[in-house]
Amino acid sequence: MSARSEPGLRAPQSRTEDSPAVSSAELHRRRGAAVARGVGSVIDSYVDTASGGTIVDVDGREWIDFAAGIAVTSVGNAAPRVVEAVRAQVERFTHTCFMVAPYESYVAVCEQLNALTPGTFAKRSALFNSGAEAVENAVKIARHATGRQAVVVFEHAYHGRTNLTMALTAKNMPYKHRFGPFAGEIHRVPMSYPLRDGGLSGAQAAARAIELVDKQVGAENVAALLIEPIQGEGGFVVPATGFLPALREWATAAGAVFVADEIQTGFCRTGDWFACDHEGVVPDLVTLAKGIAGGLPLAAVTGRAELMDAVHVGGLGGTYGGNPIACAAALASIATMRELDLAAAARRIGSVLADRLRAIAARDPRIAEVRGRGAMLAVELVRPGGLVPDPAAAGAVSAACHAAGLLTLTCGTYGNVLRFLPPLVISDDELARGLDILDAAFG
Ligand SMILES: *Cc1c(COP(=O)(O)O)cnc(C)c1O
Repeated sequence: MSARSEPGLRAPQSRTEDSPAVSSAELHRRRGAAVARGVGSVIDSYVDTASGGTIVDVDGREWIDFAAGIAVTSVGNAAPRVVEAVRAQVERFTHTCFMVAPYESYVAVCEQLNALTPGTFAKRSALFNSGAEAVENAVKIARHATGRQAVVVFEHAYHGRTNLTMALTAKNMPYKHRFGPFAGEIHRVPMSYPLRDGGLSGAQAAARAIELVDKQVGAENVAALLIEPIQGEGGFVVPATGFLPALREWATAAGAVFVADEIQTGFCRTGDWFACDHEGVVPDLVTLAKGIAGGLPLAAVTGRAELMDAVHVGGLGGTYGGNPIACAAALASIATMRELDLAAAARRIGSVLADRLRAIAARDPRIAEVRGRGAMLAVELVRPGGLVPDPAAAGAVSAACHAAGLLTLTCGTYGNVLRFLPPLVISDDELARGLDILDAAFG
């Protein structure tokens, strides 16, 4: 069945009809003369329209979308409810600044986040613009509430590109190279990475990390332990079962704030509302962004009321944080996730995707592992016969996908992981066409 006939989806509407024809080649030339080189793009084609699981470029070519704008457009691009909510809001008012003149939608988003995130205790939320800003604020809140300074992060972690979040992020190129000095009091410990840590159990991997913190930082100095429940940019690394619960237990005993960075994993992506739900881990604070608002810039920190409310009035905020248009989009996105049960959709997409990836892995010795959860899946590519990362193979498969009209992304500390993040409203037909391209790209 095509997505077009399913409720909640619509055919893409081209805008080039009202404007002069423009080609990707021409736009790329203009870009070279106008846009800073440091801002890269995965493909050289320029977008005209996009909908459920496809993007149409200005050259009229259709792409199957296995990227969702980096796990953002889970409800689809230009999702009908989001478009309607944004249109209604933009006609009422565009911005007053919540810190100046507040409005209902900001409060309503916070109510939704407090209810949806793990934990039944009293919660509060604060809204921001980007994931990095949410992470920075979670650290501010944890430091303020605990009166401590140290922040524990993990190998392969990605938390953003601002100064503090660069320090929290593991990978040098391209995120940190020559951008220092970085913020202090950040301590990095080993992640549970089952493919590459000799098969340590979750408990063993947690004990290894905790020992380092106890010996080198001191538990009583730790303000926050910050972790992605499944790592995103770092390679879709899924920690062994028991790793997150053991860290949660340690944080409780240490009086440290357990912060789950669910910016990439959140909002139904992994088949639950949040990836922490899978093992019943309840963070003290959660950082949210990406999938929260159907493509509009919005981010949040949600967590225990006593931590969130520890900060003095005026200590948190920002001009645009919780902009009314983004809030309207978030409310519409969350309603769409409930109505279409996108957590179930993520599980369904994930099982189709995983079956196909395992079939490819069975014949291709470069695939060391198929991993992930729900509609957040990846393959890690190595030189056959060992675990030596093969970023060139990942690049070649990606390039073959792009040449055939499938938009895929790579990731990983070694650049050797192909990741798949389709919109959760992708149709069966679009998913199947994408998988056929992917299958052929492996040769
Ligand atoms: C993308 C991402 C961020 C940063 O979000 P931005 O909106 O790009 O600032 C932080 N943490 C994780 C896990 C992410 O995937």
